[in-house]
Amino acid sequence: MEKKFVDYNGTTVIEGWPEKIEAAQEETTYIIDGTIYPRIAYGNEEEDWGANKGPCHDCAVIKGQLHVPGCDGERCPVCGGQAMCCDCEYEGDE
Ligand SMILES: [Zn+2]
Ligand SMILES: [Zn+2]
Repeated sequence: MEKKFVDYNGTTVIEGWPEKIEAAQEETTYIIDGTIYPRIAYGNEEEDWGANKGPCHDCAVIKGQLHVPGCDGERCPVCGGQAMCCDCEYEGDE
C-alpha cells in the first residue's frame, strides 16, 4: 500500500496524522498510579526540544500542543522520563 503524506504545521506527516494530533489535544491528562496529572505540552519540557524552532521531531505538534500519545518527545509528568516508556503506572492505555 502506498502511503500518502500531507502538509501540517509546516512539516510533512503521514495521511491521517493531523486527526491524531487533534485527538491528542482532547486528552489533557494522564492517570498515573491512580492520580490525575496534566500532560506536558510541547515546549514545556525541562529539556529544550527545539519548540521555538519547529515542530516536534517525532509527532509534528507545534509549541503549546500536546504530543500524540507514544511520541518519544513527550515527558512523563511524574518522573520526567519518556512518557509511557518510563516505569510509572499509566492507566487507560494498552
Ligand atoms: Zn511529539
Ligand atoms: Zn514516569
